[in-house]
Amino acid sequence: MPLAPTDSEVWFLTGSQSLYGEDTLAQVAAQSQQICETIGADAGPAARIVWKPVLTEADAIRRMCLDAEADDRCIGLIAWMHTFSPAKMWISGLGSLRKPLLHLHTQAHRGLPWSTIDMDFMNLNQAAHGDREFGHIQSRLGVARKTVAGHVSSPDVADRIAAWTRAAVGRAEFARLRLARFGDNMRDVAVTEGDKVEAQFRFGTSVNTYGVNELVEAVDAVDDATVLALTREYADSYALAAELRPGGERHASLRYAARIEAGLRGFLTAGGFGAFTTNFEDLGGLRQLPGLAVQRLMADGYGFGGEGDWKTSALLRATKAMALGLPGGTSFMEDYTYDLAPDSGLILGAHMLEVCPSLAATTPSCEIHPLSIGGREDPVRLVFDAAPAPGVVVGLADMGSRFRLVANRIDVVGPPEPLPMLPVARAVWRPEPDLRTSAEAWLTAGAPHHTVLSTALGREEFEDLADMLAMELAFIDADTTVRRFAQELRWNQAYHRLADAL
Ligand code: MN
Repeated sequence: MPLAPTDSEVWFLTGSQSLYGEDTLAQVAAQSQQICETIGADAGPAARIVWKPVLTEADAIRRMCLDAEADDRCIGLIAWMHTFSPAKMWISGLGSLRKPLLHLHTQAHRGLPWSTIDMDFMNLNQAAHGDREFGHIQSRLGVARKTVAGHVSSPDVADRIAAWTRAAVGRAEFARLRLARFGDNMRDVAVTEGDKVEAQFRFGTSVNTYGVNELVEAVDAVDDATVLALTREYADSYALAAELRPGGERHASLRYAARIEAGLRGFLTAGGFGAFTTNFEDLGGLRQLPGLAVQRLMADGYGFGGEGDWKTSALLRATKAMALGLPGGTSFMEDYTYDLAPDSGLILGAHMLEVCPSLAATTPSCEIHPLSIGGREDPVRLVFDAAPAPGVVVGLADMGSRFRLVANRIDVVGPPEPLPMLPVARAVWRPEPDLRTSAEAWLTAGAPHHTVLSTALGREEFEDLADMLAMELAFIDADTTVRRFAQELRWNQAYHRLADAL
């Protein structure tokens, strides 16, 4: 399925108790609705923030948490103890909650009205101790959550809630994702392997393999009118090479590329798949390695991984869901080669063909060139440079006993010189803090060569996502030293062994 805005909701809960009386509770309700509206306006289109009636007793809290778990639209909850809400009332409810929780520690007012403050004001605005009581019970029960403190009019608070909301969208996308693999893993490759049963348990994603000739049947069944419409769309959307145009000597190759796209799209739609993998070693009756089709499907929000890499494909889909509506691009990527010249320290990333045009700096050109591996006809592909922007690369590895997420803050830069002889889409970036430290840390973590590169998201979204999935995130940025990073990996290893139940 292509990505589209969903009807996702984040439920906004307000804690209090009945002792305050109706008048005060009415004020609590009015103020918490106001706070909820402010957050909703800042959270962006990722999810709707939905206000729920003020909670004053244990049974209503338990019922609310059960309803949140049961409602597929609800992807997470924000809780704020506007007044004092004795926390033993929350034990049963929190005990049944598995969806992500954000503890918002705020107040309705920003500055204190020093000259007029009286005991009524003090009684109404008690989050300073109400939220401490709530923090205690969450820690006592071991409830995973993100805690955000500050007034909601502060951009920092709004940004942190928005990042968490996007992470909750990513978690929900992982949970509902169905992924189709055409063929299995590239032979003998280690890092693209993994435990698909464990992945379904941890992330919710179901990963299944289909014989590539099932795809070939769908490709062969595409009608000529569909092929014609797609080739016209290509001509309108890209700088189409002369040899691929109608009447050009390789126009038939463009028509076959269109046939692959339509067949692949139809297969994914019919099966409800949001992500897929291909393997150039296993193309069955396909005459070209899917290049253009994969690029265009990624642009519509599909996850993709080459060489059977289902983990990167699933991560790409979740990342694209998190990034929906934001400026910047998000793509499957592979670290290919380095510029180790003094004062440079750049990584040139690409793949055989499959880089998402959401990264493109300018209109991609649509070209055909030989591919030295795979042994098929020359594949059609989009060629472009990624637009300069700050971003992240993120890799997901299966370490045997658990999954590990590793990320690096990067700056995508334009290539220092044109690349006229390189007929694939590519990105050039400078990793933080520098290439040597980044590469040593990445290798020390055992992180993959396939990644998701995004210029739409930053550190906080991935930190929140990792927390929601109870998964390690090792982050490489301007503050990283290799020695400290290696120690962090050791501590994480010990922590995750202990945190996993026997
Ligand atoms: Mn690869």
